[in-house]
Amino acid sequence: MILILLGAPGVGKGTQGQLISKEFSIPQISTGDILRKEVKEETELGKKAKSYMDSGALVPDDIIVGMMEKRIKEDDCKNGFILDGFPRTTAQAEALDEMLSKNGLNLDSVLLIDVPEEEIIERLTGRRVCPNCGAVYHVKYNPPKNDNICDKCSTQLIQRDDDTESVVRNRLKVYQDSTAPLIEYYEKTNKLVKIDGMGDINDIFANIKEVLK
Ligand code: AMP
Repeated sequence: MILILLGAPGVGKGTQGQLISKEFSIPQISTGDILRKEVKEETELGKKAKSYMDSGALVPDDIIVGMMEKRIKEDDCKNGFILDGFPRTTAQAEALDEMLSKNGLNLDSVLLIDVPEEEIIERLTGRRVCPNCGAVYHVKYNPPKNDNICDKCSTQLIQRDDDTESVVRNRLKVYQDSTAPLIEYYEKTNKLVKIDGMGDINDIFANIKEVLK
C-alpha cells in the first residue's frame, strides 16, 4: 500500500501517519522528520536545508527528490509506505510519479486532511515534541502527564523553531501557494479522498481505516 498524506502543516498528518503505520505495518516517511535529523546531525544536507526550514520556506525540490529516491528503495518499504509531507510541489509530485513507475509501483490513495486555518494556528503554536523519541503533545489538548516531560522516554519536550506564530503563518502561505495546487493534481487521478481533520484523533483514524478498506 502506497499512501500520500496531503494537507496543510498542523492538520494531523504526522499523528494519523503514525497510527496508519502501526495498523498496516508499513513505514511512515516524513520528509520533515528526515530533514530535522539531518539538521541535528549537521550533515551536508542538513546544512543546506536549515535556513529554509527556519523561515518556513520549502527546501529546494532537487534536494528533496534525491533524498526520497533513496529512502523509498530501502528494505522496509517493500510492502508499501506512507508519505507524510511529500510531495509538496507539482515538480515533486511529477518526480514521485516517475519514481513509482520506474520501480513498478502504484499509488493507492491520497488522503487530504482538512482543518480550518485558525485551528491550525492554535494546534501548531501549542505543539510540543520530544526531541528524543518524536512523540507529539499539545499544551492544551494533549498535555504530557508531567509538565513538559515526555511520557514515553522522560526527555524534556521542546517547541519546534518553526512552530512560532510568525513562522506558522508563513508555512500556511507557502502551503496555499505551492502545495494546495496538488489537490487538483490528484483529483484528476481519482485517488484523492477528503478527510475531516477536526475532532477526536481516534475518530479521525476510524474514518481513515474505513476509507482504506
Ligand atoms: P514538516 O515537518 O512537514 O512541517 O516540515 C518542516 C519543514 O521541512 C518545512 O517547513 C520545509 O522547510 C521542510 N520540508 C519538509 N518536507 C518538504 C518537502 N517535501 N519539500 C520541501 N521542503 C520540505
